[in-house]
Amino acid sequence: MKIGVLALQGDFDAHRKRLEELGAEVVLVKKPEQLDEIDGLVIPGGESGTFLKLLGEAGFEKLKQFVRVRPTFGTCAGAILLANEVENPKQTGLGALDIRIRRNAYGRQIDSSIRQGKLIDGKSGESPIEMVFIRAPKIERVGPNVEVIATEGSDPVAVRQGRVMAATFHPELSNDTRVHRAFLKLVSNGKNT
Ligand code: GLN
Repeated sequence: MKIGVLALQGDFDAHRKRLEELGAEVVLVKKPEQLDEIDGLVIPGGESGTFLKLLGEAGFEKLKQFVRVRPTFGTCAGAILLANEVENPKQTGLGALDIRIRRNAYGRQIDSSIRQGKLIDGKSGESPIEMVFIRAPKIERVGPNVEVIATEGSDPVAVRQGRVMAATFHPELSNDTRVHRAFLKLVSNGKNT
């Protein structure tokens, strides 16, 4: 399985390591044409506004086409990019997830924190999971076709809609590999259909 990690900016290397540990072949995506050679894509954390600038209009359009047809997983800034409604400030999104997401929603005081949340699995139910939040956004609205796959307190913090997954925390910074494994499963299911 060939997985791309968008490597324009941000913490792409931690995703690369995790995916390689799990047996995937990783391509660091720096040019739009590289999207043609991969089965799935991870959009890492960073600064979503900067991602938009670095992508440029052509890169953004190419990425928009990609996320419509291929499995994609966005963490933090990546989750912001995938949304169809972005607040604080308003910003363009790829529209792959029917969610409203608010950037930097936890304020300066609790900029970053490690908390325990719950991972929700259709088969095995709920189980605790460590979550690393860094200047995290908050998912304020979840559309009817969006499944909540993790919560922290009463907030949804990871969601899935079809082939697209997003988390407002950073699973690549914890030792737990379950979230990345769930994404790889999504990619391998996609390959078989
Ligand atoms: N605050 C960043 C943004 O709004 C996201 C932070 C992150 O990716 N860790 O884009």
